[in-house]
Amino acid sequence: MQIFQTIADLRQALKLVKNDGLSIGLVPTMGNLHEGHLSLVSSAGKQCDFVITTIFVNPTQFSPNEDLQNYPRSFDVDIKALSSLNCDAVFAPKVEEIYPAGPALDTLVTTPSLSKLHCGASRPGHFDGVCTVVTKLFNLCQPDKAYFGEKDYQQLTIIKNLVQDLNLPIEIIGMPTTRETSGLALSSRNNYLSLEQKQQATILYQSLKNTVKTLEQDSNPIFSELEQVALKLISSAGLDPDYFSICNAKSLLPAKPGDKDLVLLVAANLENTRLIDNISIKLI
Ligand code: AMP
Repeated sequence: MQIFQTIADLRQALKLVKNDGLSIGLVPTMGNLHEGHLSLVSSAGKQCDFVITTIFVNPTQFSPNEDLQNYPRSFDVDIKALSSLNCDAVFAPKVEEIYPAGPALDTLVTTPSLSKLHCGASRPGHFDGVCTVVTKLFNLCQPDKAYFGEKDYQQLTIIKNLVQDLNLPIEIIGMPTTRETSGLALSSRNNYLSLEQKQQATILYQSLKNTVKTLEQDSNPIFSELEQVALKLISSAGLDPDYFSICNAKSLLPAKPGDKDLVLLVAANLENTRLIDNISIKLI
């Protein structure tokens, strides 16, 4: 497995890969890899000839009051995990390599409507940072396919739209969320939680599952009422909910009566840790 820190080295290696006519699969990550990330790498390995995993804690997607400095970093362990998989290359640039003139770029990739909803409402600028760095990684790696987790459903939707709107010749593959047996979605931020808090955090998945059950049983559900029930449940477990939204799975706008293809999105804070989760459902 090759490890690159500079754009020049990465580009030189990828020229050879392209010359050999190999297909490239890209898995962008911020490191501190867990089984969820590794499932993306494994799938890329099955579907592409050459797999690149990027490890980059992107400063432009963090607000000043967020956890950029404390974000868990475990480069050596990540490299070990990746080298035991079918990962061919790791691109782990320093911040200066990606933002040589500093992170405040004059050119941004922005998706103004979707980026204002849900997580974007509480994290202004977050998705501009994500879209800009992902577009840079697409340009640098020129992948045929890129793998993203459904765990970050809004991010996945935004990236799918970005690729379509900008005519990028990249297939975006969404991968299912890997969970602990308790139901808690794996996340690098779970490292911040104590064992007791991890137990508390399972309320997110429970609230999603409860709501799905009601939606499946109720022939005329009132979405706003179900959202309120879920928010109360989350609060009663000691979390501070940000939102619980029953949405149209494509537009991410509030679901309308009659919408069949839905996604339930939730975000909550447990002390200083922001947690998100979601579940998709097709009503019959
Ligand atoms: P991150 O390092 O958190 O930016 O995540 C990198 C990629 O891994 C993103 O596409 C995430 O959606 C995906 N991912 C994170 N957690 C999970 C999970 N539990 N299951 C599947 N994919 C995940």
